[in-house]
Amino acid sequence: MVQSRPSLTLPAPAKVNLHLEILGRRPDGFHNLRMINLLLDLCDTVHLQLKPSGLRILCRHPQVPSDRTNLAAKAAELLLQQIPEPRPGARISIRKRIPVAAGLGGGSSDAAATLRGLVRLWRLSFSEARLRRLALAVGADVPFFLFGRPALVEGIGERLKPLPPIPDWTYLLVTPPFGVSTAWAYGRWRASLTKRPKLHIIKNLKNSGHLELSRGLRNDLEPVVVQRYPVVGEVRQALVSLGALAAVMTGSGPSVVGVFKNPHQAGKASKSIRQHFPACRAVVTRRWRAP
Ligand code: ATP
Repeated sequence: MVQSRPSLTLPAPAKVNLHLEILGRRPDGFHNLRMINLLLDLCDTVHLQLKPSGLRILCRHPQVPSDRTNLAAKAAELLLQQIPEPRPGARISIRKRIPVAAGLGGGSSDAAATLRGLVRLWRLSFSEARLRRLALAVGADVPFFLFGRPALVEGIGERLKPLPPIPDWTYLLVTPPFGVSTAWAYGRWRASLTKRPKLHIIKNLKNSGHLELSRGLRNDLEPVVVQRYPVVGEVRQALVSLGALAAVMTGSGPSVVGVFKNPHQAGKASKSIRQHFPACRAVVTRRWRAP
């Protein structure tokens, strides 16, 4: 009987930022940030299969590379470099569901799932701290995905603190039909562009110890993206008019997230969004909970 090679399938959830504040540009070109990040149950799937040696990456999405520039391949290669000879191998296949270059962190999530999965598949014993350092070398968002739960994220993305319990909100994700380059958005950001709301969710979190949406949400990259793509601002306004508790662009956009009290209200709003913005993708989703 032919025995199939050991394999693993892992979900790679999308993220949204309910807060993204740029504290300043660092001499190395990175930015110091303060973010509130959540995971949503809109997931890619990463399938890993053991191979005697070498890495092979498969992804059919037309905007995603299926070579060593794929972030999952980059993560696997960095991990492999840490292992003495003879080195194992893996076939990594990714099924994309998270819109690409949409501010939802899909590539970083695939990379984090690949790291977690390969540690199991290759039976490695790496400390969390060592794995987190590797994750940061892949990309600034990857340590958060490795952390795998709602977090206050600081530094360039390496300082993570768990958040207090979050109400069971429903999220309506609206993604316009174009990608935004993260490097472009940060490159365009100037402190003077930022309209700083006096009261926002972070201040609220510090004062009350709870995550409440009675205060505005803030994303310092939003003015940059809205200037070039006004539809992002129009979607945000529409979500608020349709009864969202709050709405904000996520990451470097162009996706906008509307936070709703319950699935019924979010479902009604998504119908209206599809009518008014037929080119946008609208998905009703909940917070992701690890299985
Ligand atoms: P960021 O995390 O930088 O804010 P994003 O969420 O806006 O990014 P991604 O979907 O991660 O965007 O894609 C950003 C770029 O990374 C795309 O141009 C894409 O071609 C490339 N990329 C590399 N690997 C992947 C992957 N596994 N999934 C998606 N995109 C990938």
